[in-house]
Amino acid sequence: MNKPFTFAVIGGDLRQAKLAEMLSSDGHYVLAFALEKSEMPSTVRQVSDIRDAICPADCIILPLPVTGKAGYLNTPLSAEICPLDEIFSPIRDHQLVCAGRVCDDTLKAAEKYGLRIVDYFAREELAVLNAVCTAEGAIAIAMDNTAITLCGAKILVLGFGRIGKLLSHRLRGLGADVHVSARSHSDRAWIKAYGYKPMNTLALAGKLRDFDIIINTIPAPVLDEDLLREVDKDCLLMDLASKPGGIDFSAAARLGHHAIWALSLPGEAAPVTSGEIIRDTIYNILHEEEESSWIT
Ligand code: NAP
Repeated sequence: MNKPFTFAVIGGDLRQAKLAEMLSSDGHYVLAFALEKSEMPSTVRQVSDIRDAICPADCIILPLPVTGKAGYLNTPLSAEICPLDEIFSPIRDHQLVCAGRVCDDTLKAAEKYGLRIVDYFAREELAVLNAVCTAEGAIAIAMDNTAITLCGAKILVLGFGRIGKLLSHRLRGLGADVHVSARSHSDRAWIKAYGYKPMNTLALAGKLRDFDIIINTIPAPVLDEDLLREVDKDCLLMDLASKPGGIDFSAAARLGHHAIWALSLPGEAAPVTSGEIIRDTIYNILHEEEESSWIT
């Protein structure tokens, strides 16, 4: 990007507030709406009419996730209740709209106004770096919810995707005895090659005793009631996967397990880093859009 941009940063949590601050300290002109409960530097102009933010903007940044209640902007740092229609109606063709975790209903609402939304949450660079925040957040929760050190703890990580890889690496760095499950032969070969103990996600029965901590990263049902019966009662269970998650929490409660569904960790554990990750991803998007002459 060769020139300063005008950004409208609209709604969202502390990540979005930090994002506004960072864009402004990078020399851009930043208008913020529905972030009034956060402290902002004077260089960010907070406006009370959404049109004052949207109309002058080159790029409109909506939050992650873009909606809270269906059809309404996610505004945890504001008293504003803002229907998506109010945001979309003043946006014009030449403006770039970026938003996080855009659901089908939001896309349909945007289509009514002929708008294209770029979902920054779907970008791989954001997913990878978000996984770092998630892995660190998971480790903090594990430390807070166990009476043992992670050094020497026997830990099973279910899934060897972005979070599974980064989490296993960090747990081993802390001295844990790390077991990792994957469903593919190739992933289990990589798990072995990294020095972790491989397990088959599709054949966990009979292998879940004696773990101190089991952390799921697989976004599909994995630990059902039968498997949970095998898990020791003093084992901490943590699910990092988005809904529907991988642990049967009702069965876990019935069986008396300590089970935690730890969602939204990047925003909670590292809002500043998360804001930086979103900013860098937006810059990448703008750069690509410039190259493809979306912005002239
Ligand atoms: P990812 O890179 O796609 O990894 C998912 C892993 O799950 C892969 O190892 C995949 O195996 C495995 N998997 C998927 N479906 C499976 C199935 N039916 N049976 C067995 N294994 C299966 O995803 P990620 O980035 O690590 O994210 C994992 C989850 O965490 C997602 O739900 C994501 O939305 C969520 N998340 C949570 C937080 C938080 O704060 N808690 C933050 C970010 C993301 P294959 O490679 O064989 O498909």
